[in-house]
Amino acid sequence: MNLTVFGIGYVGLVQAAVLAEVGHNVLCVDIDAEKVERLNQGLIPIYEPGLEGLVRENHAAGRIKFTTDTIQAVKHGRILMSAVGTPPSEDGSADLKYVLAVAEVIGREMEEPKIVVSKSTVPVGTCDKIRSTIAEMLKARGREELTFDVVSNPEFLKEGSAVGDCMKPDRIIVGTSSDETETLMRELYAPFSRNHEKMIVMDVRSAEFTKYAANCILATKISFMNEMSGLAERLGADIEEVRKGIGSDPRIGYDFIYPGLGYGGSCFPKDIRAMIKTAEGISFDAKMLKAVEERNAEQKSILFEKVNRYFKGNLKGKVFALWGLAFKPNTDDMREAPSRTLMEALWQAGATVQAFDPEAMQECQSIYGQRDDLLLYGTKEAALRGADALLIVTEWKSFRAPSFDLMRDALTTPVIFDGRNLYDPKVIARHGLEYHSIGRKAA
Ligand code: NAD
Repeated sequence: MNLTVFGIGYVGLVQAAVLAEVGHNVLCVDIDAEKVERLNQGLIPIYEPGLEGLVRENHAAGRIKFTTDTIQAVKHGRILMSAVGTPPSEDGSADLKYVLAVAEVIGREMEEPKIVVSKSTVPVGTCDKIRSTIAEMLKARGREELTFDVVSNPEFLKEGSAVGDCMKPDRIIVGTSSDETETLMRELYAPFSRNHEKMIVMDVRSAEFTKYAANCILATKISFMNEMSGLAERLGADIEEVRKGIGSDPRIGYDFIYPGLGYGGSCFPKDIRAMIKTAEGISFDAKMLKAVEERNAEQKSILFEKVNRYFKGNLKGKVFALWGLAFKPNTDDMREAPSRTLMEALWQAGATVQAFDPEAMQECQSIYGQRDDLLLYGTKEAALRGADALLIVTEWKSFRAPSFDLMRDALTTPVIFDGRNLYDPKVIARHGLEYHSIGRKAA
């Protein structure tokens, strides 16, 4: 099937590559000419396991192409999928300018019937806005006879395992009330439902809402656990034991109950805020979501507070080794990453950061540029040398079993502040290191 994907970001590029892999003919279009140029040269703009090979192979096979040409893009696809960004506006609501810009392009250029698929995370009612934007453009052109439908098809991939998530989705949510559109969407996604039916069809508004509800409950689990960790620490309980204890209940489960430094990334923070904003707009007090967000904001500062307390508020001139910059492992994404809150607070206090991340160093450099108080090292061990303490921010696998003896010898003060509870406090103590983690007594 001929398919066009608008927006070649984390969602657009991965979905396009996966859809090309199963045989669809995908044309990707983006307003970022440099990104398109680089992709045409085989250079992948993001780190995502398995993505590079997939894009290169399908590009070589001619099943995925990249362009900035919107006329060609609208012409190519029977299905036009929009995966452009929906960043937060200043007031926290979702900014729909990119989404509606795509709708305008479609309304301006379409010459035959189209199915417009909205993949971005958008507030309830956005598909109606896309529909009316396209209809207005067609009216202005005197082409009201051209038919089109707008489908909500939110994306549930997780950065870090995006290719696998799209290859083997848990579910494919399709919001439409048209049988014809449903049939076409089934054809598009049939390769992913071979084992069992993955598609759940519902009305457009419920599909738009499903994506927000999913992110809201996941963020709630994280904030809940972080709240429990604060209580555990003060009550002399070990949150890691508690986690295993409650996770064993299948009604609770082990996923998403890790205490840590709060959620970050490009989705949860903006989506929770957007949902709160949506609620405000209809005079509904989203009490729980506000608490989830408030807890998260506090949690992002918790490691800084522990460090500041330990050094008695005297951080000026101190040097801190920092392991992990990405907001989570297996990605180079640093949008709303806890590492940023921490580094910025340390710099504000006059400290220097010696950082290492397996994938996000370039991203860090492009965010913060050259500065004397940020030194990026090629290995996690090199980042330790001469530091006053080690701060662990992202739970990369390669951080799980380090040489504690090397750590102890490299650090000026043998102390670890672990924002991800990677280690057993007893083991650390045996190696002569002091250990502060989340929701557990210091050891
Ligand atoms: P992104 O910022 O990585 O990519 C968006 C792309 O859209 C950029 O390359 C940008 O240049 C392009 N773009 C903007 N306007 C355009 C236009 N008019 N025409 C063509 N291209 C245009 O964004 P992302 O992380 O891929 O997220 C996209 C959407 O998917 C968001 O709504 C997000 O909330 C949602 N989502 C993201 C994830 C995730 O993990 N990143 C997961 C699920 C859903």
